[in-house]
Amino acid sequence: MAKPDGKAKQAKGKNATYMCAVCGHIAIGKIPIKCPECGAGGDNFQKIA
Ligand SMILES: [Zn+2]
Repeated sequence: MAKPDGKAKQAKGKNATYMCAVCGHIAIGKIPIKCPECGAGGDNFQKIA
Protein backbone atom coordinates (compact mmCIF):
# COMPACT_ATOMS: atom_id res chain seq x y z
CA MET A 1 0.00 0.00 0.00
CA ALA A 2 0.96 3.60 -0.34
CA LYS A 3 1.54 6.07 2.44
CA PRO A 4 -1.25 6.25 5.00
CA ASP A 5 -1.50 9.95 4.50
CA GLY A 6 -4.35 11.38 6.51
CA LYS A 7 -6.42 8.23 6.33
CA ALA A 8 -5.39 6.81 9.64
CA LYS A 9 -7.59 6.21 12.63
CA GLN A 10 -8.41 9.87 12.86
CA ALA A 11 -11.18 10.60 10.44
CA LYS A 12 -11.01 14.32 11.09
CA GLY A 13 -7.98 16.24 10.01
CA LYS A 14 -7.98 18.78 12.77
CA ASN A 15 -5.66 18.35 15.69
CA ALA A 16 -7.78 18.95 18.69
CA THR A 17 -6.13 20.02 21.90
CA TYR A 18 -6.88 18.43 25.22
CA MET A 19 -5.88 19.48 28.68
CA CYS A 20 -5.53 17.36 31.78
CA ALA A 21 -7.91 18.71 34.39
CA VAL A 22 -5.63 17.49 37.16
CA CYS A 23 -2.25 18.97 36.24
CA GLY A 24 -2.85 21.03 33.13
CA HIS A 25 -0.80 18.86 30.79
CA ILE A 26 -1.57 19.56 27.16
CA ALA A 27 -2.10 16.79 24.65
CA ILE A 28 -2.52 17.52 20.97
CA GLY A 29 -4.35 15.36 18.50
CA LYS A 30 -5.70 12.74 20.83
CA ILE A 31 -6.38 11.98 24.42
CA PRO A 32 -3.67 9.87 25.97
CA ILE A 33 -4.65 6.74 27.85
CA LYS A 34 -2.90 8.14 30.86
CA CYS A 35 -1.54 11.57 31.56
CA PRO A 36 2.26 11.42 31.30
CA GLU A 37 2.57 14.12 33.93
CA CYS A 38 0.33 13.02 36.75
CA GLY A 39 -0.90 9.60 35.67
CA ALA A 40 -4.55 10.56 35.57
CA GLY A 41 -6.73 8.59 33.21
CA GLY A 42 -7.89 9.90 29.87
CA ASP A 43 -11.24 10.70 31.44
CA ASN A 44 -9.63 13.72 33.03
CA PHE A 45 -8.73 15.31 29.72
CA GLN A 46 -10.95 18.03 28.41
CA LYS A 47 -11.05 19.35 24.90
CA ILE A 48 -9.97 22.97 24.91
CA ALA A 49 -9.56 23.70 21.20
ZN1 LIG B 1 -2.19 15.30 34.31
